Amino acid sequence: MVSEPSEIPIPFIPGDGVGPEIMIAARAVIDAAVDRSSSGRTVIRWEHLDAGEEAFKKHGVWLPDSTLRAIRDRGVALKGPLTTPVGGGIRSLNVAIRQSLDLYSSVRPVRYFEGVPSPMKQPAKMDVVIFRENTEDVYKGIEWKRGSNEAGELIEILQTRFGIGISKDSGIGLKPISERASKRLVRAAIRYALTSGRKSVTLVHKGNIMKFTEGAFRDWGYELARSEFPEQVVTESELGSRKSGPRHLAGIVLNDRIADNMFQQIITRPEEYSVLATPNLNGDYLADACAAQVGGLGVAPGANIGDEAAVFEAVHGTAPKYAGKDVANPCSLMLSGAMMLKHIGLEGASRVLVGAIQETFADGTMTMDLARMGEGISSVGTKQFGEAVLSRIR
Ligand code: NAP
Repeated sequence: MVSEPSEIPIPFIPGDGVGPEIMIAARAVIDAAVDRSSSGRTVIRWEHLDAGEEAFKKHGVWLPDSTLRAIRDRGVALKGPLTTPVGGGIRSLNVAIRQSLDLYSSVRPVRYFEGVPSPMKQPAKMDVVIFRENTEDVYKGIEWKRGSNEAGELIEILQTRFGIGISKDSGIGLKPISERASKRLVRAAIRYALTSGRKSVTLVHKGNIMKFTEGAFRDWGYELARSEFPEQVVTESELGSRKSGPRHLAGIVLNDRIADNMFQQIITRPEEYSVLATPNLNGDYLADACAAQVGGLGVAPGANIGDEAAVFEAVHGTAPKYAGKDVANPCSLMLSGAMMLKHIGLEGASRVLVGAIQETFADGTMTMDLARMGEGISSVGTKQFGEAVLSRIR
């Protein structure tokens, strides 16, 4: 008797702009990779969730509660890019999803795929995973407009209570960074490094200027490593003072870099870095700067991971000028799908999918965003790229 394949329910949000077309391409290759690696014994049951423009048209809200509930219930989702409605009463749907579900680690692996044109001479030296704190820092959205009552009151308080003079025509923003959020992010980065055979974790901060926010992030990172991973983590300074080399051969090195220095070192000596743990804003800049070295956002996957749920998403936006034109690169979402497969325990399927994308690029097949960076490379459309990956999976 032939048994029914086991079904894994996975919610997905198609997204706005190019979202729906890259989602079709990504789901097809994810399905094929699962089928191939399980010999047909496992299938994904995709569950469509509304969010963004689609939700607004249907329900009059950008982010229905039922969508957040479904992600919380399933613990996982694949998400296309969402438009941030201008003046829609919500700052960013993406930030709202991350904050509502407490998806506190933004995880962005950046590696090179052979065949992809890059501005670097040796792009294969780049292989990092960026853990970016996802819930606080300036992304908390605490700011007041120039001339508002709130900005005026704060300027007054700062002057009268603390003797700090701020020009009255200033907008005011706050940058909260907490011990709890910093430590849980660094914990996730260290755990990842230990379980995936990575050699180091680097805390990236601007603590020389912002001592009690970014400097504290660094200090809490070291403190956490000392208290929770005393046997697995050695710091760079401990290593330097030891004559006999690393005590923890099976563990990792923890170090830190000031953000501006990190930006130049990741260009000049990328091979020295492995896992980077950063507060929110540094991570935002750094992840895109790293992605640019290996071909851009089109080949950079991303995930937002918390203790209860994880949302895997394309790292680029809705690219509205390309919507419906069959030219968008679906690779970021495909690779995010590969991360999702690994996250839910389908490592074999994840490897099959990444391998097929790798072969597709190595054969010179790519969409226009990548092809235009090289010389004499002709490009394929979204569907054709998807079919090229599919044919290498089957
Ligand atoms: P964007 O959508 O990422 O697009 C910027 C440019 O990058 C595009 O015009 C496109 O053109 C290139 N690009 C991006 N994705 C591409 C793809 N898959 N294939 C080929 N080219 C691609 O950024 P944006 O224009 O700043 O934002 C547009 C909307 O997306 C905004 O509403 C923003 O809030 C939202 N957004 C959402 C997310 C998310 O959902 N996580 C993230 C970022 C932005 P070129 O040919 O000019 O390079």
